[in-house]
Amino acid sequence: MDKQVMDPRGSLELLHRIEDSASGLKGVIAIHTTALGPAAGGCRLWTYDGDEAMEIDAARLARGMSYKNALAGLPFGGGKAVLRRPSGAFDRQALFRAFGRAVAGLDGRYVTAEDVGTGVADMQAVRAVTGHVAGLEAAPGRAGGDPSPWTALGIFKSMQAAAQLVFGSDLKGLRVAVQGAGNVGSGLCRLLSEAGAKLIVADIDAARARALADKYGARYAFADEILEAEADILAPCALGAVLNDRTISRLNARLVCGGANNQLATDADGVVLLERGIAFVPDYVANAGGIINVAAEYMGETTAQVEQRIGRIGARVTAILGQAARERRPSHEVADEMAQRIIATARQAA
Ligand code: NAD
Repeated sequence: MDKQVMDPRGSLELLHRIEDSASGLKGVIAIHTTALGPAAGGCRLWTYDGDEAMEIDAARLARGMSYKNALAGLPFGGGKAVLRRPSGAFDRQALFRAFGRAVAGLDGRYVTAEDVGTGVADMQAVRAVTGHVAGLEAAPGRAGGDPSPWTALGIFKSMQAAAQLVFGSDLKGLRVAVQGAGNVGSGLCRLLSEAGAKLIVADIDAARARALADKYGARYAFADEILEAEADILAPCALGAVLNDRTISRLNARLVCGGANNQLATDADGVVLLERGIAFVPDYVANAGGIINVAAEYMGETTAQVEQRIGRIGARVTAILGQAARERRPSHEVADEMAQRIIATARQAA
């Protein structure tokens, strides 16, 4: 195994450590590549056991953003900011203004937005110091605002394309098990219900799942049953690592297509899915609608342009699943290779 695979920091263009004792800010901005354009990726505020864990997480996430942005056809590279959540009370405004100064210091090489643990108010504080930020409120007709509906739309388009390949049909009458009734899961349920799919919904927050099931005439399932539900399609829209050595053998669906990030616990789990004859739409291809909306906001595009970009996700899914089936290879490997090729071509052209 080479050094870069063992430690994802080895593959970065830049690992920028940031610290501001006055506000309690400590973190890192990881830039994986700027070959296609400024490195775009959200800012995570999280608790870490030490600097190394934080840096490795940032590097892994930045590389993931490179692949996601490249395959989404965006003129952006991949980056990620990870900040350590201060212990005890802290002044959020001051912390995110200090973070904004660090982003400003990179002169547009990195563009930030919300991620796990951060929100619109935090990005407004960043905005007070730098323009290299998106994920703010949108004006009517302009890209911006909550990315979740756009993420759901991209998953829906992915599922339509994948269903044509796997079942030779549209989604009408197909049974779709949705794990997670949050922002993305509920948006996806709305689109699926309009398309005539039969829904099964679960969430660890049972009341949330029941409310969603009632709204769309879906069947409610317990959270620990949803993965093995009698369904044609499984849509993981909750947590990562949901496809692993304990779960894959229990799946009944023939297609997995959802919004949760990093659904495969390991690459080997992609191979097991292939062996079981289960088609898998790589999560970062299906869930790119959110970053497409964020990127479009930064570029000053309209919602119509966001729709156009998301409209192209289906063809990408068809290409990836088609190649994976022809070559009898896991789809995530095919997608990674496609992304790497796009980035390498841009590097050569630079
Ligand atoms: P959310 O917090 O609104 O919803 C997640 C839901 O999953 C919650 O209702 C939670 O109770 C439920 N849940 C957690 N563990 C569960 C379990 N074991 N079984 C069933 N339900 C469980 O989050 P979201 O914005 O809807 O995002 C969902 C996933 O999609 C996350 O993995 C996120 O990283 C990913 N994602 C979201 C976006 C976006 O635009 N929001 C973009 C890309 C990727």
